[in-house]
Amino acid sequence: MECHIDYHPPANLLEGRVILVTGAGAGIGRAAARSFAEHGATLVLVGRTLAKLEAVYDEIETAGGPQPAIFPLNFEGSTLKEYRDLAETLEREFGRLDGLLHNAGLLGELTPFAHYDPELWARVMHVNVTGPIWMTQALLPLLEASPDASVVLTSSSVGRKGRAHWGAYSVSKFATEGFMQMLAAELEPSTSIRVNTLNPGATRTAMRQRAYPDEDPATLRTPLDIMPTYLWLMGPASRGRTGQAFDAQPPKGAVSASV
Ligand code: NDP
Repeated sequence: MECHIDYHPPANLLEGRVILVTGAGAGIGRAAARSFAEHGATLVLVGRTLAKLEAVYDEIETAGGPQPAIFPLNFEGSTLKEYRDLAETLEREFGRLDGLLHNAGLLGELTPFAHYDPELWARVMHVNVTGPIWMTQALLPLLEASPDASVVLTSSSVGRKGRAHWGAYSVSKFATEGFMQMLAAELEPSTSIRVNTLNPGATRTAMRQRAYPDEDPATLRTPLDIMPTYLWLMGPASRGRTGQAFDAQPPKGAVSASV
C-alpha cells in the first residue's frame, strides 16, 4: 500500500479549503483537524462530545488558524435529517466542501463471533458505516461544488485482511473499503471528487489502548506523527488519485498488530 509519511507539505497547503473532520474531538481526528487548520484550512468540527470540539476550536484559534465551525453529532442514532441540516448549514456558510475526513469510529468488542452481541454489532456498523455513508450522500452536492474535493474514509488493517475476534469492527472497515471503491468508480467519470481510504496503522490513542491494554503506548507513533499522508490526501498533490487504499505508516512490523 502507498504511504506518504515522508511528505513535507508547504505551510499554505490547504489555504482556502473547507474541510470537515468527524470525530474531531480526540485522537487522530483532533490531530487531523489541528494539522489541517495549521496548513490554512477552515475546519468543520463534527463529533459527539461538544466540550471536546470546543477545546479543539480553542486550540485552532489560539494557534492562529482560520475560525472553525462546530457541528455536534452522535453517529449512534443520527438521522438523515441531521445530515441534511449539516449540508444546509455548510451550503449557507461556505457554499462548498473541499475535504471530508470520515474518522469517527467505534471499536465494539474483541470477542469470538459466537458470543458477539447483535445490538453492539448494529451500533458499530451504524457509527462506522451507515452514518458516514448517508452523511456523504447529503454532502455530495457541496463536494461537487468544489474544484478539487477529497473524501478520505478511515480504514484499518483488519478492513483489508480479516482477523479472529475483531467482529463488527473488522466487517465495518471492509464495508468502508467497498463503499470507497463503489463511490470512487461512480464519481470518477463525471466529477473531480476523489475518494480513498486511509489506514492510520498502530497509533497512540484511547481506542488503541482499549484494543491493546497491555501495550506500552510509548512504543507507538502519535497521531501527529502520521499526519503527512492525511495532508497529502487532502491537498492538491493527490489530485486525480481515486479509488485507492492508502496507509499512513509504512507496514514495517506495525501492520499485523494494528486496529
Ligand atoms: P479514538 O477512540 O481516540 O477517537 C475516536 C473519535 O471518534 C473520538 O473523537 C470520538 O468522540 C469519535 N466518535 C466515537 N463514536 C462516535 C459517535 N457515535 N459519533 C460521533 N463521534 C464518535 O480513536 P482513534 O483516534 O484511534 O481512531 C480514529 C479512527 O482511526 C477510527 O476510525 C479508527 O477505527 C481508526 N483507526 C485507528 C487506529 C489506531 O491505532 N488508533 C488504527 C486503525 C484505524 P469522543 O471523543 O466524543 O468519544
